[in-house]
Amino acid sequence: MGTEPVIETVNAYIVDIPMKRPHVMSFGAPTEVNFVLVRVQARGGIVGWGEAATFQGPTWSEESAETIHVVIDRYLAPLLKGRNALLYNPLMEELEQRFRGNSFAKAAVEMALLDVAGRYLGQPLHVILGGAFRMKLDLSWSLASGRLETDIAEARDMMSRGHRIFKIKMGAGAVEKDVANLARLRRELGPEVGLRADVNQGWDRQSALRALRKLEESRPDFLEQPLPKWDLAGLSELRHKSAIPLMADESLSDAHSALDIINKGAADILSYKLTKLGGLTRSLAVYHLAAGAGLGAYIGCMIETSLGTAAYLHFGSVLPKLDYGCELFGPLLLAGDIAAQPVTYEDGRVLVPEGPGLGIDVDEAQVEKYRRG
Ligand code: MG
Repeated sequence: MGTEPVIETVNAYIVDIPMKRPHVMSFGAPTEVNFVLVRVQARGGIVGWGEAATFQGPTWSEESAETIHVVIDRYLAPLLKGRNALLYNPLMEELEQRFRGNSFAKAAVEMALLDVAGRYLGQPLHVILGGAFRMKLDLSWSLASGRLETDIAEARDMMSRGHRIFKIKMGAGAVEKDVANLARLRRELGPEVGLRADVNQGWDRQSALRALRKLEESRPDFLEQPLPKWDLAGLSELRHKSAIPLMADESLSDAHSALDIINKGAADILSYKLTKLGGLTRSLAVYHLAAGAGLGAYIGCMIETSLGTAAYLHFGSVLPKLDYGCELFGPLLLAGDIAAQPVTYEDGRVLVPEGPGLGIDVDEAQVEKYRRG
């Protein structure tokens, strides 16, 4: 090994990539994903990249591409310069102590540091993290066109390409319609496919209770975040009345919220996203905490490019148990990518990249193409 990978430059870019179709969720119907890409260059010319994906403003969480960009540019980047990227643990802890919140910004920075570290060591991230339990993750495709007939056609097309798991977005319209839509999907797609439902906080307790009984007939694998993220008491009440496992997504933002969910019995499964949890290291800590309490695991997404998807894949590969697979379909739904070679999908699964670092080579011409002017 040569000289240490001391960080020389840190650049953050806002990049907007349209989706092939609008993604209809309880809080809106974004037509593009707004990314912040972080480019970290270290001594010796090693370049690592990180990414945070958002849906057109502070809609899914409090952070938007604009806030992430300014936080990285003004506050995080200056602290990185001159530091050794291999020592990302104390460096990220320092950022955590200095600056509150802004987990998406911190996660994008950590992702770039991990990429630099891997490239410097000549090893893929999953090796640096101690070794993979799996190199292929089961993939769930989210049906969210906003029109049931389109969803059914889309599901059939995906099934012809080997996909067997689908998640339907709920909470944008009437509860009864959501329930009827899932029942119709079950009839159309058959008893063998895995069906899941994600409400993105869209219901209140009464609506959720009403829905729950009827949803059971369609045998979904889980019901995700039916209530607002703060309503852990409501989630706990639902969970005790539900034959369907409940998943917490928006309710989970850090180790403290994980402990709250565990102590209140508010979920059976947690959805992991590197950005909401402030990076991969923190996500691993939360995973081990929750696994110790008997909670199942699922890898969620914010519709990442192949770069962010790769980081999530390395994370998913090193979890001892990944009960419900992942939804890392971003590169399939985006109309463009920034990778020279996108991640590989095969028979309803997605493959963990094998190259050094995140295993994705960023095509800087594509970054320039989608970069906000
Ligand atoms: Mg979700």
